[in-house]
Amino acid sequence: MIYDEILVRYGEISTKGKNRKLFIDKLKSNVHYVLKDFPNVKIRAQRDRMYIKLHGEDMDEISKRLKKVFGIQSFSPVMRVNKDIETIKEKSAQLMKKLDASGKTFKVQAKRVDKEYPYRTNDLNQILGGHLLKTIEDLKVDVHNPDFELKVEVRKDAAYLTCEVIKGAGGLPVGSGGKAMLMLSGGIDSPVAGFLAMRRGLQIEGVHFYSPPFTSERSKQKVIDLSEKMAQVSGKFTLHIVHFTELQQAIIQHVPENYTMTIMRRMMMRITDEIRKRRNGLAIVNGENIGQVASQTLESMYAINEVTNTPVLRPLLTYDKNDIIDLARDFDTLEISNRPYEDCCTIFVPAQPKTKPRRDKVHLYETNFDWEPLIQQAVDQIETVEITSKTGKKEENEFADLF
Ligand code: ATP
Ligand code: MG
Repeated sequence: MIYDEILVRYGEISTKGKNRKLFIDKLKSNVHYVLKDFPNVKIRAQRDRMYIKLHGEDMDEISKRLKKVFGIQSFSPVMRVNKDIETIKEKSAQLMKKLDASGKTFKVQAKRVDKEYPYRTNDLNQILGGHLLKTIEDLKVDVHNPDFELKVEVRKDAAYLTCEVIKGAGGLPVGSGGKAMLMLSGGIDSPVAGFLAMRRGLQIEGVHFYSPPFTSERSKQKVIDLSEKMAQVSGKFTLHIVHFTELQQAIIQHVPENYTMTIMRRMMMRITDEIRKRRNGLAIVNGENIGQVASQTLESMYAINEVTNTPVLRPLLTYDKNDIIDLARDFDTLEISNRPYEDCCTIFVPAQPKTKPRRDKVHLYETNFDWEPLIQQAVDQIETVEITSKTGKKEENEFADLF
């Protein structure tokens, strides 16, 4: 392996002024977490860059993991070399040879971060370009669209050489922006909403409503598997499972059918908000998307959202379904979401839910039964599970696929 380190570029966090240290520390611990099963790797975080020393660990697998870490703009596998000019020349040629550059086009892009370094950027470009043209057969310069762009960064401690820039996941480090509760169903939308919220730095805990025996263990497992995907980028993931059967049955018994869905959603939101309070969260996140189904008209949101003044974040509000599906594929949740098991909302769905529910009617129907103790009971009986990622335990993952 010619590269011995990975240089990580931070992107947006570099603009965050005095919060910067917190952001960098968070990113460092998140990177640490995803690479925890590579014991030889050493991570060094500086003000504007992070360096991951590989010490012989598997570059491809590490690169695959880093692509998922929010807060990374891009990264490059690099050769870290002594910064005297002869060494840089020699190592540049070594790198280009290793990459089979003969017969191809290239350009050199030098950067002098160490302002005391005796060669300026242009001198470096010329010296290194000239040397490579001499040493590598049939190599040609193309400054506009080269096959290889050799980047040389001369810093205080050393010079860094690379020909690759790999795009990162962007956004901000998970956990740098406060905590929110994600209403997590087994569907396509809510996990994507969770990932988008995490990409803006939020720490997410999941709240899932399930209704045994009407919903099966398998539909619960689906949500646990989705949570595991989130744990891959957030470290551990806390999932609160709410037993919703009694409350749902009471709603069906006491509320006119076309309002059951609206009132059920109001109860879900009240319970989620209660969990949020207990967990010191500051917001609720859900997968709602304007106009998608009856519960997601503006009138519905107006009737449902009334139960709380906690911010309800809807990252998918304006997305088209196809774009959401593409995101689900990117975040690797689509396959799990597509498993066919029933959800507590789909089994009790009325034939004709009200698409334009009215608040006055909702208030009236909620006086039909004593729901507060049922909410309290649901909150008291919550099952909380801490889910850690299976990243790296390959045998276990492969084994799980057999079922
Ligand atoms: P999803 O694909 O996320 O299930 P959806 O398109 O099926 O969304 P709805 O069923 O109307 O839409 O649900 C809207 C939102 O309500 C979901 O995105 C989710 O945030 C929340 N929600 C629905 N069902 C549950 C559930 N069983 N547990 C937790 N949250 C839920
Ligand atoms: Mg759904």
